[in-house]
Amino acid sequence: MKLPLLRLSFFSNFFVLVLILFMSSSCSSKEVVDLIVHNAKVYTVDTDFSIQEAFAIRDGKFVEIGKSNAILAKYTSARVVDAQKKYILPGIIDAHAHLYWLGQKLEEADVSKAKSFSEVITILQQYREANPDKKWIKGYGWNQNNWNPATLPTKELLDEAFPDVPVFLKRIDEHVALVNQKALSEARINQYSKMPKGGTLGVYENEGEKGKLNKEKGLKGLNGLLYETAINLATEKMPPLTEEEMKRAFQGAEKVCFQNGVTSVGDALMDKTMFELLDSMHREESLKLRVYAMINPTEENQDYFLEKGTIKTERLHAGALKLFADGTLGSYGAAMLEAYSDSASMYGAMWRSTDEYRQLIKKFADKGFQVNTHCIGDSANRIFLDLYSEFLGTEENKNKDLRWRIEHAQVVHSNDLEKFKKFKIIPSVQPTHAISDMPWVETRLGRVRMGHAYAYRELYEQNNIIAFGTDFPIESVNPFGTFHAAVARQDGLGNPKDGFQMENAVTREVALKAMTIWAAYAAFEEKEKGSIEAGKFADFILIDTDIMKTDNRILRNTHVLQTYVNGQMVYISEF
Ligand SMILES: [Zn+2]
Repeated sequence: MKLPLLRLSFFSNFFVLVLILFMSSSCSSKEVVDLIVHNAKVYTVDTDFSIQEAFAIRDGKFVEIGKSNAILAKYTSARVVDAQKKYILPGIIDAHAHLYWLGQKLEEADVSKAKSFSEVITILQQYREANPDKKWIKGYGWNQNNWNPATLPTKELLDEAFPDVPVFLKRIDEHVALVNQKALSEARINQYSKMPKGGTLGVYENEGEKGKLNKEKGLKGLNGLLYETAINLATEKMPPLTEEEMKRAFQGAEKVCFQNGVTSVGDALMDKTMFELLDSMHREESLKLRVYAMINPTEENQDYFLEKGTIKTERLHAGALKLFADGTLGSYGAAMLEAYSDSASMYGAMWRSTDEYRQLIKKFADKGFQVNTHCIGDSANRIFLDLYSEFLGTEENKNKDLRWRIEHAQVVHSNDLEKFKKFKIIPSVQPTHAISDMPWVETRLGRVRMGHAYAYRELYEQNNIIAFGTDFPIESVNPFGTFHAAVARQDGLGNPKDGFQMENAVTREVALKAMTIWAAYAAFEEKEKGSIEAGKFADFILIDTDIMKTDNRILRNTHVLQTYVNGQMVYISEF
């Protein structure tokens, strides 16, 4: 019997893919499978958290997991991978991220490394030179907390450097954007613009030169800052991406995910158009990443998804409603019970009235959708925990397995923690946020509130479950950054030396489960993925570091050597 020749890329000296092109007669009693991986240290993340050596895969699923000898004795395959004692994990599941934004960003100017606003301008000028045809200059990632002085920028320098082309720059948290005058004009944004709910336009506070513009009318000049939903006033006026560009964005994002070992993503803001595009890309096999979709409840999306109900294919699952309770701490938008410690007049704000939220929740919950809400401030968390309890605490729902989630759960008042337990609410958090915010957040929150901020262990202990994500592209896609942040509570340089609020660090086992099986559970998908067990999708990654054992200092540098989805190799490291 002749088997088709397989063309496989060889992985330098580290790996040899052994091709058994002819099955000898002695093998004929063996069961034929599509792929065998052996001689590995496999963290299966099964119920016993067992460590194995080998597995066999057929039709995109794990068939059996066990010792190398046993698997090689029982199965045969044209594709056998000797992992040479390297480490295998289930494919990483990022519970909360933004695929499309990541894809778009790959085409935009990254100003996140700028140490001052004039550096931002320099980066944009270089970007302009490299991309002379772009109708808008779009950039992202500025963070005034990295500058000295740490003040919010306004548009004057942008106007000087770019008088003729619209510039649009999102802050690191995506909750504030800075635009130049050309962008304001093109998007017809002025003091009379009809403001979407929850949005604000920045104005010059002192009545200096720039503020005089509309003084007679009692209006202050716009300073170019767009807060929260006011950002939409600009984005709506940008030329829309073509379908080709959107596909390229998704494929670009998928590539970065696979390089980082991420095989599934919880997309935390999905629209109908994107959902249909993802579905068609999956069908034509131009996209392989699995996506759990949380629906953005615009009118159009409500019509579409409420009519269809939850939708599930092997790779795409529309299962949740996504709500935003509030903004972020970085932009003073998170809704707090007490004023910000470094700005006595600011409390942040909720985006909608409680009654509006209640109605949306009811509509989607009646159709079987999970409810996942972005809550950062302690007031936002309280309002939503209480709102959830109205639904989850009823006689009818009390014993149902509804798994509603709070996304971020960043500052939770100690009186509210036990509500997670009582109503079996899943905290879905991003450990790298704690590390990114660590340098300035104590000033913003004060000592007392800090005690229950980024409190992942406390949250985990409510129901012994927690899901981890990155919120990429706000943070890096690298899941080992998440892992390191969760267990060592340090940045990439190992600071602070003793970790940031170590009482809220979690164990390595908890961290790995939060990125695999619990992230699957948080999307009602734990029966098909999240661990290496017979019958589950063969999504797994081969890495060069034993993350369960190695020193904290090198966790973040873990390299993904190979990534597999459905037993197919979708990424192999170049080095
Ligand atoms: Zn998000």
